[in-house]
Amino acid sequence: MPPQHRRLLEAHTFAAEFYQHLLLNTVEGEEALEYLTGRGFTPEAIERFGVGYSLGNSDSLARLLARKGFSEEEMAEAGLVIVPEHGGKPFDRFRNRIMFPLHDPNGRTVGFSGRVIQKADNEPKYLNSPETPIFNKGEILYNYHNARLAARKSGNVILFEGFMDVISADLAGIQSGVAIMGTALSDKHLALLGRITRQVVICTDGDDAGWEAARRFSRLFKSGRTDATVAVIPDGMDPDDYIRKYGGGQFREQVIGQPHTLLSFAMMYAKRGKNLNNENDILQYIHEVLAELAGNTTPVERDLYLNQLSRETGVSAEALTAQFRKAEAR
Ligand code: ATP
Ligand code: MN
Ligand code: MN
Ligand code: MN
Repeated sequence: MPPQHRRLLEAHTFAAEFYQHLLLNTVEGEEALEYLTGRGFTPEAIERFGVGYSLGNSDSLARLLARKGFSEEEMAEAGLVIVPEHGGKPFDRFRNRIMFPLHDPNGRTVGFSGRVIQKADNEPKYLNSPETPIFNKGEILYNYHNARLAARKSGNVILFEGFMDVISADLAGIQSGVAIMGTALSDKHLALLGRITRQVVICTDGDDAGWEAARRFSRLFKSGRTDATVAVIPDGMDPDDYIRKYGGGQFREQVIGQPHTLLSFAMMYAKRGKNLNNENDILQYIHEVLAELAGNTTPVERDLYLNQLSRETGVSAEALTAQFRKAEAR
């Protein structure tokens, strides 16, 4: 490891300890602690996920790091402190946020995501570390270092959109969850997943953005080597909302325990927003499902899903099969 990287890692270790101290032991951290408690965070979960709090309007981390011997250049390079270009006092990047450390695959803290406690209009809900020599969002999956061990037992990894969902699932007894950090699923992410499991359960939010994300993810897995299924969250909730409403047991049994195959999910996706009493919608639905089945599918899969399509649309399986052959021949 280059010496520069070691310095950046050290700065992150100090920062994580400092943020956690502020959350647990100071008056300033009380509101954040109450917020977390309200969301079901136990002291044990705060400790295990290294959650902390950054002070508002502050250069307190910059001053701490200076006392520990870090130069302004190093603090800025770590992405923890912003040094104004045209002079002026350095200030902390993260202010008045709940701090979640982000780890590399070996479990070393390489960045942070900070959440606002109360949403103000002009502030992003989450603020992430910038890209640095040790932090690249395209190479980080939240909780990967823990999921790697848990996946040996569970045999699968659950892929979430948000790291709050990972933590919520963990509290509900599912330790093999990971999340992307508000970015696309990269080849590097896929390779990381492939290293620790052969079975990924995609579990994105139940809102429109989540359905689109699940669709994009499922396409990547379809053409890759890792098997994937999709666990669908109902009614626009996200996994954390679901767990808080229905409990961890129901989440494990009815959501994670009953995932859809990629083809079944593709059919659900195609059906979304369509009215299967409307002939145009039926024709469009059939068109989309046949295109989906034309990919890399087995004869049994085709038979299974063409029969399902027949039941859903009232079009005979024979006609669907004939249409499918014709489309495939083109
Ligand atoms: P919460 O329950 O605290 O609202 P969430 O996990 O439900 O959080 P979403 O809005 O569903 O948050 O977003 C999912 C993920 O997308 C987050 O974990 C974060 O990584 C990323 N994200 C969301 N909003 C932002 C933002 N404004 N800036 C950067 N990343 C974001
Ligand atoms: Mn979302
Ligand atoms: Mn969400
Ligand atoms: Mn949420």
